[in-house]
Amino acid sequence: MPQYAYFQKQFMPLAEANTNIMTNFLHYGTAVFEGIRGNWNEEQNQIYLFRLKEHYERLLNGCKVMKIQIPYSNDDLCKLTVELTARSGLKENVYVRPVAYKSTEAMGVRLHNLESDFFALVIPWGRYLDTDACRVGVSSWRRPGSNCSVPQAKITGQYVNSAFAKTEAHDAGFDEAIVLNESGRVAEGSGENIFLVIDGKLITPSVYENILVGITRATVIELAKNELGIEVIERPVERTELYLAREAFFTGTAAHVSPIAEVDHRLVGDGKVGPITKELQTLYHDVIEGKNPKYMHWCTPVY
Ligand code: PMP
Repeated sequence: MPQYAYFQKQFMPLAEANTNIMTNFLHYGTAVFEGIRGNWNEEQNQIYLFRLKEHYERLLNGCKVMKIQIPYSNDDLCKLTVELTARSGLKENVYVRPVAYKSTEAMGVRLHNLESDFFALVIPWGRYLDTDACRVGVSSWRRPGSNCSVPQAKITGQYVNSAFAKTEAHDAGFDEAIVLNESGRVAEGSGENIFLVIDGKLITPSVYENILVGITRATVIELAKNELGIEVIERPVERTELYLAREAFFTGTAAHVSPIAEVDHRLVGDGKVGPITKELQTLYHDVIEGKNPKYMHWCTPVY
């Protein structure tokens, strides 16, 4: 399978994109990354990269936080990603992983006096959560707040927190974790945002709850308001509400819109995919695959 990378300012096969083991970011998590999906549209023989600009906006914001300077504009990064994906020749759902990182081969935990660079790779990638109905458990791990780290940036080092939560959930027999913030309110999944349906309204933890402000979250909020006429409320969410919600689902680039069937061994609603979740799932898939003319401005064709 052709797997391509852009590394040290060149396109190359993924197998050739290797770095020295002294490279700073390998040791200290001093990098920011993105996950971008390219969605295959069979009828049009096309891959659509979803909301490229927004992903690179978040990456460049993260670069600022991490004092990572890269010589690329948002536009450059979008063009580069289209070319990388086109070069792969892939004709299926793909995943692009861009990383901006501290590239100096030097020990020492710091952000200053280190060079930065950027790489990206593209691989075929189907589903992330391999179930249609997630069984989830509330994690014993907490999502750190903004005096501990920077929850709004996708900093690689920060993801050890997600890894703790994910594996704890896995070892306990769950598909995914729900992570609370330091105040004990609901933050998100290990790599997804979370939505609840309560009294016919869509509820999701607000940006002040230590969440990563997801691009899928923003997409779903817009689709729910504009296409389904559903009220969306961003507010603090209590753990108890997880047990009382009629419907619940995760959102994320990797996870798409993923229904939650159970929380802590309690059924959400009747444990089946609820009507609002179902509608949003269908809408979302049409939009990301370039099948909804109204939202084509979110889709960048590769071929
Ligand atoms: N939270 C975390 C911790 C994540 O890693 C992700 C995936 N990027 C999300 C939420 C969802 O964000 P997005 O919809 O932008 O992929």
